[in-house]
Amino acid sequence: MSLPPFKLLRPRGVEEAVKFLSRHGRTDDSTRSIVAVNEPALTPRGPDSRGRLSPQELPVRIRIIAGGTDLIPSMRQKLFEPQYVLDLRRIDALRGIRPLPDGGVEIGALTTLREIERSRFLRQHYPVLSEAAATVASPVLRNLGTIGGNICLDTRCLWYNQSLAWRKSCGFCIKKNGDLCHVAPGGTKCWAAFSGDTPPALLCLDAEIEIAGASGTRRLPLAKFYTGLGDNYRILQPNELVTRIFLPAATAGCAGVYRKLRVRGSIDYPLAGVAVAIRRSNGYVSQARVGITAVNPSPLLVTGVEPASAFLDDLKAGR
Ligand SMILES: Cc1cc2nc3c(=O)[nH]c(=O)nc-3n(C[C@H](O)[C@H](O)[C@H](O)COP(=O)(O)OP(=O)(O)OC[C@H]3O[C@@H](n4cnc5c(N)ncnc54)[C@H](O)[C@@H]3O)c2cc1C
Ligand code: SF4
Repeated sequence: MSLPPFKLLRPRGVEEAVKFLSRHGRTDDSTRSIVAVNEPALTPRGPDSRGRLSPQELPVRIRIIAGGTDLIPSMRQKLFEPQYVLDLRRIDALRGIRPLPDGGVEIGALTTLREIERSRFLRQHYPVLSEAAATVASPVLRNLGTIGGNICLDTRCLWYNQSLAWRKSCGFCIKKNGDLCHVAPGGTKCWAAFSGDTPPALLCLDAEIEIAGASGTRRLPLAKFYTGLGDNYRILQPNELVTRIFLPAATAGCAGVYRKLRVRGSIDYPLAGVAVAIRRSNGYVSQARVGITAVNPSPLLVTGVEPASAFLDDLKAGR
């Protein structure tokens, strides 16, 4: 499958990147993510009751590339045919793992998963993140793939991650070009699953992300980045990019583990992934978080875990 033609833009700084995005990204709805324009809208759904077009029909012309391990296969499948591709890899300020004076750490969005997997600092202080990063794809892909790309990963579905000819033969679907869902026939919502491995670990660690845009930078909890919709899964304005990830001192030192179920142990996306971060003090669990991925359009933090662990501790202590 060949790549569609596009113009490569290679900024050297975040400001220049935002300028490119502002110039070439365009959407009619501020909550929409960046999507491509010149794709055939074969069965357009048209505006909804509030006059908004679906993400696939919005006229936006640019996509960001970091490691390219997700974007390039998607472009080959003609899921995206942007006129411009914004390559972040010359922006050195977006790389690196920097411990902060308050005991937390900041991680540049372009930091590779391999660096995160191997970082002595992260393995010691935030082991659940290193463990989750180490399970992504294969070593070759982790050398290229970045944490920013993993957080921004497109949602996946067996009916969507296919070639144009394959999707056309099935009549397309809500996520792209169509108006029905093959997974939930009769439904109007897309249920494509978010399948990144590091976000459930980051949720357990109370991560925040920094987003840079035309009006400066903003910082928000990672949990608020995802919408819960399969076809419009993240909150990112057309002129914005993710620049940094912050882990607070409060979750440093938690013991952690990440487990995933996948078809091929050596390379596959998760069918389900579970991250657990726990802190013990005086023999009792004082902090417990469980994050899950690949089972929903967003990665999720499981609620009710801390009361349950306190209850188990009480039982153990005979209280
Ligand atoms: C065979 C194969 C197996 C895989 N297995 C797994 C797996 O097991 N687990 C898993 O999590 N992933 C898997 N992946 C997907 C991918 O390799 C990883 O998710 C990787 O972390 C993506 O990062 P990237 O830098 O390559 O992203 P890219 O492909 O460059 O980008 C991915 C998406 O994020 C956007 N983006 C990237 N960086 C930014 C930024 N800074 N700001 C805003 N938007 C941005 C891009 O526009 C694009 O939409 C697999 C891929 C392949 C090909
Ligand atoms: S879940 Fe989404 S991507 Fe999958 S068939 Fe339904 S609309 Fe398409």
